[in-house]
Amino acid sequence: MDYKNRSFTILGAGRSGIAAARLLKKHGADVFISDGGKKENLIYLDENILKNEGIKFETGGHTEKVFKADALIKSPGISPDSAVILGAIKNGLKIYSEIEIAFNFCKAPVIAVTGTNGKTTTTVLTGEIFRKAGRKTFVCGNVGTAFSEIAELTDENSIVVLEVSSFQLNDTETFRPKVSVMLNVTPDHLDWHKNFENYINAKFNIMKNQKAGDTAAINYDDIALREKAGRMKKDLAFFSVRENLKKKGVRKGSFAEEGKIYYFDNDKGIDEEIMQSSNINIRGMHNLYNSLAAIISARAFEIKNEIIENTLKEFKGVEHRIEFVNEINGVMYFNDSKATNIDSLIVALESFDKNIILILGGREKDNDYSKVEKLIESKVKMILAIGESRDKIINHFEGKVKVLKSDSMKDAVRKAYENSIRGDKVLLSPACKSFDMYANFEERGRDYKSEVNKL
Ligand code: ADP
Repeated sequence: MDYKNRSFTILGAGRSGIAAARLLKKHGADVFISDGGKKENLIYLDENILKNEGIKFETGGHTEKVFKADALIKSPGISPDSAVILGAIKNGLKIYSEIEIAFNFCKAPVIAVTGTNGKTTTTVLTGEIFRKAGRKTFVCGNVGTAFSEIAELTDENSIVVLEVSSFQLNDTETFRPKVSVMLNVTPDHLDWHKNFENYINAKFNIMKNQKAGDTAAINYDDIALREKAGRMKKDLAFFSVRENLKKKGVRKGSFAEEGKIYYFDNDKGIDEEIMQSSNINIRGMHNLYNSLAAIISARAFEIKNEIIENTLKEFKGVEHRIEFVNEINGVMYFNDSKATNIDSLIVALESFDKNIILILGGREKDNDYSKVEKLIESKVKMILAIGESRDKIINHFEGKVKVLKSDSMKDAVRKAYENSIRGDKVLLSPACKSFDMYANFEERGRDYKSEVNKL
């Protein structure tokens, strides 16, 4: 794409929007940023930088100026049905996502990771493996750094590991990852994508430009993904924790069987045992999936098994996702502050055997605690209820499990400490949002860790 003298409207002044605007401007494009939000809430919009670089912008709404461009870069949060997008289409603007722009400037091969859950963990883990292998590695996307911030720093020998949501995959044209990873798909974000079929189709856009020699890694155990993949004429790699994929006629992939992890590629005559699954440091079945996906990406670049194994042995997980905090008097403390709904709590509880002291609660509207009741009864010895939802939690679980009320994180951690014995695990997995007590889940997780470390 030639950017000189072409005009772009950047819709959304978040981190990726600002980065795309600066990148395009640097390459001679005429750019204009428009954001419906108030200026004081746009933390990535630095007026001085934009002025210095000659980038015009508007906030607090969208004027007609938005439509006076050749193309529009749409931020992931903006609905395709919003008036401003419909207006852009009517005015003949091409619509792209930020990753499409960044991709045009990227010289390194890209590993792109998508799915409903596990994107960040898999992206960061995959990046760790390449780092350990000595590759110049860029981890970006939703995980923090925007793709457009690093695109120009790449070269042929470096590697980009990119976390992408299905929102971003709708508006790509040439985006072609060398490896694409699809972790799972559960009906989430359905208002945005209208129906499940559209949602799955958006995810499969990740591989629409992939060619022979590229790798598409798909979760075999996710029936919806497997069925959709089966209808495609692509050479796919699969991963599974339930099936021996070689016996299923799959040509390439990674699977776990009887405590061991395997990687195979029939076309290359590769059939290898990578490691014992119990040596993976991050807990839980969900992380086994994330690990298998990372293995396929690493092997696509012929990273040695020894490096993969060593990384999986050492990788401590991403902060706030069943993160190990400390061990005090034989009691292990875990921070799963990212768990803001019941499904994530279930994933966390399934990662432990029993003797859990659970810190639960925060802000929620319609949590159905009966969905997790059986699991809690079998694994949790005590609940410490915190936040706005603490009375609802007490009402629900009283008589089933021991529940104590706590007025602060400090109090919950103290009570957990006083009531624990050697071998117990104290787990913050609140199944609620954090906004009743904190600015975000990160702040909640850090507060928990700081209280634990004071014990
Ligand atoms: P994302 O970036 O997709 O939100 P994260 O890696 O941040 O995913 O993990 C968020 C939560 O999702 C975890 O705390 C865990 O509860 C759950 N999770 C992680 N990986 C998986 C997986 N492969 N399958 C199902 N749930 C998962």
